[in-house]
Amino acid sequence: MVGNHKIKDLPFKYDDLNGISEQVNKWHHDTHYAGYVNKRNEVELELEKVDKSKSNVNWSLFRALKDRETFNANGQILHEIYWDVLGGNGEMDENLEIAKKIKSDFGSIEKWREDFIASAKAAIGWSVLALDLSDGKLKHFIGDAHNQGGVWGAIPIIAMDMYEHAYYHDYGPDRAKYIEAYLKNIDWKKVNQRYKKLTKLIL
Ligand code: FE
Repeated sequence: MVGNHKIKDLPFKYDDLNGISEQVNKWHHDTHYAGYVNKRNEVELELEKVDKSKSNVNWSLFRALKDRETFNANGQILHEIYWDVLGGNGEMDENLEIAKKIKSDFGSIEKWREDFIASAKAAIGWSVLALDLSDGKLKHFIGDAHNQGGVWGAIPIIAMDMYEHAYYHDYGPDRAKYIEAYLKNIDWKKVNQRYKKLTKLIL
């Protein structure tokens, strides 16, 4: 059934995070994220009735809807992943499978962290730690819009929101401080569960 995506609750209380405020979580979840879910539903319903015979690469209602379909679908999916791994204290048990995989693919946890921060700083929209199925490796990919920069067949493990709405109220232009705050809230057991669940499904 199309047009029936549900707004999921945050997996923690609005005021539960360290360094990411209740106000930012409220705006982010209730306005931005909810807006993507609602628009995704609206676009899907419009696509049911649009005249496909008028599809055109320059401009057509069908093209506009197909563009917004991916924008809002990824807006929903990436935000759910963004919050899904939070609620911890950022400390990584190096015996977790995800920690071993990070070490093997990036060389060390320190090198991964350096790449995570550099990638997030370079992103206007998203920086995503993903498992690339084309070679089985973990990598950071960046995108400047929800529907740009994704790599087909790469499964997101951590999605870092670098849009200004995610940090400006708390940190102004200090993107590095916000990245530090996000890292400090990661629950690595949840990241590990996500990694194990996904690899079970696909490998
Ligand atoms: Fe966001």
